Amino acid sequence: NQKMIDTAGPILSQLHERGFLAYIVGGAVRDLLCKRPITDIDIVTEATPEEISTVFAKTFSMNNQHQTVIVRHSGCLFEVTTQRGKSIDEDLLMRDFTINSMALDQKGQLFDPLDGQADIKNQVIRSHEPAARMSEDPLRMLRAYRFSSDLGFKVSENLGEIIRNQAETLSRVAMERISKEFYKLVSGRFKQTALKELASSGLYKHCGLPQLDKKAISFLRELPVLRNEKEEVIWTFICLSMNLTSESHLKGFLFSNQLTKDVRNRLAAFTYRKNHTWEVLSLYRTSIEVALDVERVRELTDKSYMSNEELLTMWEQLPIQSKNDLAVTGTDLLRHFKREAGPWLGEAILWVEEQVVTGNLPNEKDTLLQAIVTSNTGEG
Ligand code: ATP
Ligand code: MG
Repeated sequence: NQKMIDTAGPILSQLHERGFLAYIVGGAVRDLLCKRPITDIDIVTEATPEEISTVFAKTFSMNNQHQTVIVRHSGCLFEVTTQRGKSIDEDLLMRDFTINSMALDQKGQLFDPLDGQADIKNQVIRSHEPAARMSEDPLRMLRAYRFSSDLGFKVSENLGEIIRNQAETLSRVAMERISKEFYKLVSGRFKQTALKELASSGLYKHCGLPQLDKKAISFLRELPVLRNEKEEVIWTFICLSMNLTSESHLKGFLFSNQLTKDVRNRLAAFTYRKNHTWEVLSLYRTSIEVALDVERVRELTDKSYMSNEELLTMWEQLPIQSKNDLAVTGTDLLRHFKREAGPWLGEAILWVEEQVVTGNLPNEKDTLLQAIVTSNTGEG
């Protein structure tokens, strides 16, 4: 932690030397005071984004938040944002929760206008003027439970009441912003309590997921802590909680195409695995990464599962692990049969793969080409 703060020192100094006050703010200060590991450091300064870019050699602007500039230094990334308001205290008063409304300057002096330290000590998520804070940005309601899940803090009674009253305003917020917070909420160490409050406040109804009902929430609550699981595994659980057998209902909620594809593959393999055990061909078609994740999902939901070792052994013993390992290529087939490319080609490759994977045929070019002729595969 200290090391991370030390790396931020030169950034603060560089801004300072050019006449701009600068501070470490938000999550890093909170996590430092909570004695938790710091993941990233946010910096606030008087300098405008243009001025920030002239101070540092390597900067990137974030496309969606034009006020923020990413600065690289000693292998770390810092988000440097222009201060809102005339002073650091004014900026801090506009933040979501008191525990996030603290700043540190380069001498290590703490700015804490809302006594966030007391709330850390008492383990409460509290907002200064919560009704106004929550209507300015309704996502903060979900963030309240997200921090509660992460830190194990209680949402203050006052804030909880406001969330119950204003819950439906969450539906105005972009799905992508909601999904990032929801994902973190599900991943938190204290998700049991946080999810319970998400349900009892009624906020869950406005997350943009019609299938997210109380049953789905209890499913998620009863799972072990998911903190260290892979992102695609956690999203698979989120789909399973809502009985979604494909990711199609999560359109707009799953923010990247890659993630969507990864979740789709895991859901399909999980469904297959309900009625089958892995054998060479299904493992080959599924791929080892997906199969390992599916077994992990089964393990965490108390189902019988195959150990990593068993699966990896089976995988390593496959004659081929992908099309690239096959002794014939599409080009070989086109040349050998002197035919135009068409659906027959893909079918022939599929058939050859199956023969090789199951051990019916050796992975040898001539044997495979001969076999295709005699078996007549692909003529349809
Ligand atoms: P984490 O450790 O999970 O990254 P964090 O506190 O750094 O938590 P971020 O979402 O990264 O949370 O935001 C950084 C800081 O910016 C917060 O600590 C908070 O002060 C401020 N902030 C972010 N989002 C909002 C918001 N929607 N409303 C108000 N303040 C926000
Ligand atoms: Mg952060």
